[in-house]
Amino acid sequence: MPQLPNVRQEQILAWLRHEQQITIEVLVERLAVSAMTIHRDLDSLAQAGHIEKVRGGAVLSNRGMPGETAHQCVLCAMRVPLRTTFIINTTAGQQIHACCPHCGLMLLEQHTDTDTVLARDFLYGRMVNAGDAFFLVDSEVAVCCTPSVLCFGTEQDAQRFRQGFGGVVLDYHAARTHLSQRHRSVLGNN
Ligand SMILES: [Zn+2]
Ligand SMILES: [Zn+2]
Repeated sequence: MPQLPNVRQEQILAWLRHEQQITIEVLVERLAVSAMTIHRDLDSLAQAGHIEKVRGGAVLSNRGMPGETAHQCVLCAMRVPLRTTFIINTTAGQQIHACCPHCGLMLLEQHTDTDTVLARDFLYGRMVNAGDAFFLVDSEVAVCCTPSVLCFGTEQDAQRFRQGFGGVVLDYHAARTHLSQRHRSVLGNN
């Protein structure tokens, strides 16, 4: 039975509210329509401000939403705040949620089979690919774990934040190395 576009879009929104993010691949399978149709649905939902499109799928827009997601951080067990959401998708289809880039980047040390890694841009609130993002480490802005790690979509934004709040701006790989080394030295001192 053919579904009306608005019925399908409501269904996509319902899934997103529950799952926070969804891939086009999964939607094609669940709704039995073409990827082109899914793209059109996601475009309409994005234009209406309900969702944001990311590479290969969509995430729920954080506009007007409560401060926490339904997920717990896999590393520290804290409720994942919407502002600093960090999501690791493994190639096996597992979805790992972290409370902030601090826990997220640390969790990456345990996962070599990552497919996509998404983090929320601290300034604009949209999900960005963590691999292309910049991280402000050790700033005075402590919203989640210590040391504070904030994600920015561009180096320019991260540098601007650093001018006001201190810390050091690192790219994805440098931030991962920094955190794992610091973690190791803490363990060594104990
Ligand atoms: Zn955590
Ligand atoms: Zn955290």
